[in-house]
Amino acid sequence: MSTEYIKIKNHINGAWLDESNGQYEPLRNPSTGHVIGEVPLSSPATSREATAAAAAAYPAWSALPLPKRMDFIFKMHRAMEDNLEMLAHSIAIDQAKHIAEARGEVGRVIEILQMACTIPALIQGDTVQGIANNINGRLIKAPLGVFCGVAPFNFPALVFGWFIPFAIGTGNTFVYKPSTESPLFMQKMMQLLCDIGLPDGVVNIVHGDREVVEAWYEDDNVAGVCLVGSTPTAKAIGEGCGRGGKKTMLLGGAKNFLAAMEDAPMDLLIDNILMSGYGSAGQRCLAVSNIAVVPEIYDDFLARLLEASRKVTLGDAMDPDIFMGPVISASARKRIHDYIDIGLAEGATLALDGRNPQLPEANQDGYFVGPTVFTDVTPCMRIAKEEIFGPVLNIIKVGCIDGALRMIRNHPLGNGACIFTQNSFYTEKFINEADVGMVGVNVGICAPHPYLPFGGIKGSLVGNNKVQGKDAIDFFTQSKVATIRVVDPRGVTATATTAATADNNVRSCVAS
Ligand code: NAD
Repeated sequence: MSTEYIKIKNHINGAWLDESNGQYEPLRNPSTGHVIGEVPLSSPATSREATAAAAAAYPAWSALPLPKRMDFIFKMHRAMEDNLEMLAHSIAIDQAKHIAEARGEVGRVIEILQMACTIPALIQGDTVQGIANNINGRLIKAPLGVFCGVAPFNFPALVFGWFIPFAIGTGNTFVYKPSTESPLFMQKMMQLLCDIGLPDGVVNIVHGDREVVEAWYEDDNVAGVCLVGSTPTAKAIGEGCGRGGKKTMLLGGAKNFLAAMEDAPMDLLIDNILMSGYGSAGQRCLAVSNIAVVPEIYDDFLARLLEASRKVTLGDAMDPDIFMGPVISASARKRIHDYIDIGLAEGATLALDGRNPQLPEANQDGYFVGPTVFTDVTPCMRIAKEEIFGPVLNIIKVGCIDGALRMIRNHPLGNGACIFTQNSFYTEKFINEADVGMVGVNVGICAPHPYLPFGGIKGSLVGNNKVQGKDAIDFFTQSKVATIRVVDPRGVTATATTAATADNNVRSCVAS
């Protein structure tokens, strides 16, 4: 990856464009704090220019025979496999995701593309024959037109994978707004889409902030909007799209739970908490945050967690030998520090303080927070209720599994929860009663495989549409039902009598 200054550009109707309003914001590498380029803050006019380009591309794209559209999905898959390292580097630079995790993110999108290759099987409709004499019913899954997508900073590749292959594979065209904090992946990915010959206007990129999105609410070219982001953003987009009558798929924020039972496999538990709590510096929608622990293992668990957490190394996201990179920005670091102050003020015990962690010389100006562990946390404290989105763990003592389940049920968000146990009663009870969209058993990050839907419930999902799996096909298509009366072109009423006469004629011909 070169170190030259990166000027991020919009991509509209097949052309790379500077933003005509001239407004840009600095793009930083969070590992060093250095400015590495600039990102356009595009105007509503640019946003509508992109939807107009997508609308113009729609008739030809949706009319393209399905096997030809699928060719592009296969080529996309191949292009990502061939360029995995380059794409992973782009994520490790501006989002500062640890390079190994960045490779994992791109690898997951490659798996999603495998799933998208099954669109021809999933897009098939239904027929009901003989609803009445010579009348059949047919259900068709049709594309809708132009979809627009909005990405969070923390999964620039994954969210591309959740939206674009399914949207365009089912015959729609797309306008995508990456986060201004991590636009680099999409810059590289868009070039790969050009290289595989994707027709102009099928996928368009507009960088910027909420103004880009708000322009879509009343835009007649737009059929639907999808977002992965925080819950307030999901609600704001839901309201705007509701006014404008747009279809929505809106995944919101999270506060995830882990229940450690008395028979938890301890080594596995600690390893998984390190990955889930400190991986991506705690900036995952499935990062564990609240850990419910039963009294039987509490002291041993805490000692081992603290010992392992103290060994976590911090440094540049491109360095494969460190465990944890930085958080995304100086303001994100400040928010996490503020939550540490809030936890202390609420009476929690700061068992491990991640402020002012040890850093390599080159990363002194990066945005780092070390592993942080609060004990003596209660479910009604703000640190247990609100999304901190950093490497901060809250340890909450519970009497038994019921206490853990009650805590999960009472929380307004419901993305993920996992249990560590070898007991099948606990396992089944947790799967059935944990009030979240994604449950894990002895896995720290309960991200469903791309063949299955991904999404939370309660405040973690605004509306009812989830990403991945068959749900993605349902969202990006509309059901159209045709009722077809077959009329005899010879002008004879096709009644049972005439049909019987025709049959007799055939029989007599064959006999003669
Ligand atoms: P964010 O909500 O601040 O921003 C997300 C996107 O929405 C950005 O592109 C931003 O420019 C845009 N945006 C912000 N405010 C807007 C508004 N009022 N109107 C229209 N667009 C607006 O989120 P973030 O900080 O980039 O990402 C972190 C959040 O995303 C966390 O809450 C995390 O839990 C959530 N997230 C959820 C999932 C999931 O699967 N549920 C996955 C990844 C991230």
